[in-house]
Amino acid sequence: MVWNNNGPMPVPVPVPVPVQILFRYVEGLDQGKAMYLLFIKPEIKTPGGLMARPVLTSYYKSSNFLNRPYNRFNIYTSPDETILCPDGKQSMYCQLLCGLTQRHEVLRVGAVFASAFLRAIKFLEANWEEMCSNIRTGQVSGWITDPPCRGVVSSMLAGPNPGLADSIDKECGGGKSWEGIIKRLWPRTKYIEVIVTGSMAQYIPTLEFYSGGIPLISVMYGSSECYFGINLQPLSKPSDVSYTLLPNMAYFEFLPLENNRGEIAAGEALCNGDHKVKVATEAVDLGDVKLGHYYELVVTTFSGLYRYRVGDILMVTGFYNSAPQFRFVQRQNVVLSIDTDKTSEEDLLNAVTKAKEHLEQLGLLLTEYTSYPDTSSIPGHYVLYWELIAKGSKSSDSPELDKGIMEECCSTVEESLDSVYRRCRRKDKSIGALEIRVVREGTFDALMDYCVLQGSSVNQYKTPRCIKSDAALKILNSRVMGSFYSQCVPSWEPFKIET
Ligand code: AMP
Repeated sequence: MVWNNNGPMPVPVPVPVPVQILFRYVEGLDQGKAMYLLFIKPEIKTPGGLMARPVLTSYYKSSNFLNRPYNRFNIYTSPDETILCPDGKQSMYCQLLCGLTQRHEVLRVGAVFASAFLRAIKFLEANWEEMCSNIRTGQVSGWITDPPCRGVVSSMLAGPNPGLADSIDKECGGGKSWEGIIKRLWPRTKYIEVIVTGSMAQYIPTLEFYSGGIPLISVMYGSSECYFGINLQPLSKPSDVSYTLLPNMAYFEFLPLENNRGEIAAGEALCNGDHKVKVATEAVDLGDVKLGHYYELVVTTFSGLYRYRVGDILMVTGFYNSAPQFRFVQRQNVVLSIDTDKTSEEDLLNAVTKAKEHLEQLGLLLTEYTSYPDTSSIPGHYVLYWELIAKGSKSSDSPELDKGIMEECCSTVEESLDSVYRRCRRKDKSIGALEIRVVREGTFDALMDYCVLQGSSVNQYKTPRCIKSDAALKILNSRVMGSFYSQCVPSWEPFKIET
């Protein structure tokens, strides 16, 4: 989603900075800097001739961001010139290089979404030697050609620094595992600020692998349409995070979710597979939502959206004074369907989370996944693309795959999907055996590069949980290292009522 900054829509409201809340919970944050990796995307013209750009690009280019007061909340390692560099690769390189040169001053690191932060770690893994050499010689690489970026990074390097280069080399090199690399490179880091709720939850194990035990903090919940809310208990575990909606950001309304019997969905109903629910037609106001109930979020914004259905499902978890707090449940959608089955993003995440437990015994970590309903043969079947890394070895090593265990992963996914899927598989035989295709390391980076080329913003990029385009599918299929099929038909109880 993009903002039109040329027409009648106003520039976005200033993004509230939840850092003040963090300063209340984490001591000493004013004793150093934040390494936040932030990116812009170039403006595009819509077919109607309007200028359009992603919301965060608007924000980083706005006077609200550029003229922010230089105070203890706002001291970043990335100079604005590196954030505003239109070339994503140069921007990433320069921001990480600046972060490395100031490694002993960094107290917090982050990006908007967990996926962007992990992409930065991968980039660092591929480029740290060149960065070290820049630090050693005091000369930034020749391919950094964006003049403002080159200028600011050159002055930051301020001459050769072999001692710093050696210390980085010691942490990154020598064929050592990258486990805990964040803590090793930025030893004073107190937390990693990235969104790890919703579909980003699947990155938590990988982040934990790289983080070295540093807390993961999700502070804000927002969208291109509107900023929604903040997390007032930033140190809570990712699974316990709730957001308090800020009533001055928009007019919020809530469509209650009902189950098939017309009852309001409450408690753990959605999580227990009772999520094929209808949305009630009457919306309630922010002040009228009820504890434990599920709602679809509707916003009326200052920029002119009227009763816009965001598509997010939220559950009320409590109240801060009388302001309701919400857990992000899922984006209401269906990612996979072959027959009458409808698998949502959350169904898929839960099934993959169960199945990937089998990888533990192989010392493997699932770093990314997506899916595709393959209907090229009859019956069609679900295909999952998995990218794996071997824990404790250099990430460039290809993981060793065990056919039996990978087949167990396929069966566990099937067993964890809902009863309609399992009926289609077992009784109707309208869905074929689920397949997992393991792809080479870097495949999901290539997918992201492709999506970014198509217009996605790096900041706001989320791995599509279902692949729709032939070109994206080609990227995945050309990097398959191994393909495995479920060898068992999942169980199904005929008398259980399907919702
Ligand atoms: P976009 O406007 O493309 O950046 O996407 C906004 C959407 O991202 C929201 O409607 C949510 O579905 C998702 N999102 C944003 N913030 C969070 C969060 N803190 N937790 C979970 N999902 C989020």
